[in-house]
Amino acid sequence: LAGVGPRTRTTQTHCPYCSLQCGVTMTAGDRPATLQPADFPTNRGGLCSKGWSATELLDHPERLTRPLVRAVAGDRTSPLVESTWEEALDRLVGAIERTQADHGRDAVGCFGGGGLTNEQAYQFGKFARVALRTSAIDYNGRFCMSSAAGAANRAFGLDRGMPFPLSDIAQADVVVLVGSNPADTMPPAMQWFDEGRARGAQHVVVDPRRTATARNAALHLQPLPGTDLALANGLLHIAVAEGLVNEDYVAARTTGFEQVREGVAGYWPDRVERLTGVPVADQRRTVFALARAERAIVLTARGAEQHRSGTDTAQAWINLALALGLPGREGSGWATVTGQGNGQGGREHGQKADQLPGYRRLADPAARAHVAAVWGVDPDDLPQPGSSAFELLDALGTDGGVRTLLVLASNVAVSAPDARRVIRRLADLDFLAVSDFFLSETAELADVVLPSAMWAEEDGTMTNVEGRVIRRRRALDPPEGVRDDLQLLAELAERLGAPGFSGDAETVFAELGRASAGGAADYAGISYRRIDDEQGVFWPCPAPDHPGTPRLFLDRFATPDGRARFLRVEHVEAHERPDAEYPYVLTTGRVLAQYQSGTQTRRTRSLQLVAPLPRAELHPDLARHLGIGPDDVVELATRRGRARFSAHLTADIRPDVVFAPFHWGGGSSANALTDPALDPTSRMPAFKVCAVAVTRVAGP
Ligand code: SF4
Repeated sequence: LAGVGPRTRTTQTHCPYCSLQCGVTMTAGDRPATLQPADFPTNRGGLCSKGWSATELLDHPERLTRPLVRAVAGDRTSPLVESTWEEALDRLVGAIERTQADHGRDAVGCFGGGGLTNEQAYQFGKFARVALRTSAIDYNGRFCMSSAAGAANRAFGLDRGMPFPLSDIAQADVVVLVGSNPADTMPPAMQWFDEGRARGAQHVVVDPRRTATARNAALHLQPLPGTDLALANGLLHIAVAEGLVNEDYVAARTTGFEQVREGVAGYWPDRVERLTGVPVADQRRTVFALARAERAIVLTARGAEQHRSGTDTAQAWINLALALGLPGREGSGWATVTGQGNGQGGREHGQKADQLPGYRRLADPAARAHVAAVWGVDPDDLPQPGSSAFELLDALGTDGGVRTLLVLASNVAVSAPDARRVIRRLADLDFLAVSDFFLSETAELADVVLPSAMWAEEDGTMTNVEGRVIRRRRALDPPEGVRDDLQLLAELAERLGAPGFSGDAETVFAELGRASAGGAADYAGISYRRIDDEQGVFWPCPAPDHPGTPRLFLDRFATPDGRARFLRVEHVEAHERPDAEYPYVLTTGRVLAQYQSGTQTRRTRSLQLVAPLPRAELHPDLARHLGIGPDDVVELATRRGRARFSAHLTADIRPDVVFAPFHWGGGSSANALTDPALDPTSRMPAFKVCAVAVTRVAGP
């Protein structure tokens, strides 16, 4: 997996960005590092522009290579200046000790990210519970996967976002994608869809925008944002009315269908057309296609899930899939398409407020006892579950809230909902420490900034969109002065009097395996050697001689009785509806050449050439009504704030909806506009729908 030439070294590793985790071959040595796509099972030689350009950042001039501290300690109006690790860690540890002495253990908090390796995410959770003994830890995956995870846990007893390999998509005769746009977010994955289409498969895309994925589909349903649940219930209503329900499957493998059958009775097609805007004929075409297919897959993603009713919306699509007998059959099923690079693994091993490694529940006494034994601590000393991400951020600096915060791999000043409110809360902190490769918008606010190693400079594992555990391999040394987050946590723990935190990734992975053993996400049988030999291993894998589990639920679901659970769910109006002051619907999302909060991709020259400016999409009819021309500067205003974008006029979007990309901060921060209303189950904010006003500010 690594080759050494006269002056260069090649290493098999993976793209740093999205959850497809495309395989790449890195070449590093006495010249700037380069990469080529590798023939890995997920990308089969494909890469998108983000992957191709990933090495540009390794020696970027803005790369942080020294810790930064405030010139005057405690004064955030003084400039950040270069310092030593000794000084930076002294200040951080001093702040932690002062805060906990004055305000209690929970006044120190941790905020992680779905880009951390499994080892780093595991170690961060352990650090919070053992070294800090705080309940205050959560991570940005709460803004990403939590609704789908909540629904999958309820329905199947287990959340592995995609319970089958990507290759199953090529086998399906019908695929319905709900709020998912892989043609822009993970283009190499489209080869699986293309392979299916080449042999006659039909794809249906449900999206308020006619995205690149929708343009290739046989059918595009264009619902009003926030009505996906009503649409799913409406499709199930038709399935019931037309006798399309797979009654044998429902009887043998599920419970609770009768309540759902009753529940969807009220979702008759013309009512659903009025709620969603999807014509009755298209509803019928979708249901008949799904029901008549030998194999069919329903995929949801953030478009359906980032809502105040996101968990119930995912459940509604699961209900439809179950009624048609899809989950737990090869080439069929329901899945959610994870976004962040380690969005799957990042939510399995303990950086989530309510969770211990292996998907164990922090509130479960047996789980606490198991993990405490691995960690060598008393289970009674482990804290109880803390607040979810937005609630943690929204209480920063308050009585009872976090007063000293350590952030790893997350840029909440751009990615959190109602971002300017979160920025104000960050300013209220007594002390903020951020570990990152660049001076992100969050790091700019910090008292201490710690320069971290980048993807190509660290070892570890990631768990991709399919639940395949893969190796991130170190291809070159980090710049002098830069540290891996594992080393950072090990040293911090040592200074806080909690030894036993290793900085070696393989050692931490072995410990993670023991901590996860017997849990739902069981990694106990996975080793670096096996991952190398087998091109990744699918969890659960409880023993070294276990083959791993590419397909879940073939015989039984992970519920106590082995049956999947239907749950009746009802459409509720979005938290904010258009009114006279804010007459349109705002939705947000990603564009091809940017990634997440843009900390990396906005600094990548070749990507900036493609997507240099944030552009808001408006329908030409709406633009005409508002006197807006192509490329005019427009201001979007919501009840929380204002942000400016260049106007992109396109008939691909509904005339009553405006789309804004969320990769930028400052004056073009889409999340300055978004609604932090939370889903009651997942605590997911309503990123995907709020009311907005649009005005023209200036010409192009
Ligand atoms: Fe990287 Fe995702 Fe693009 Fe693959 S699809 S190259 S993993 S960003």
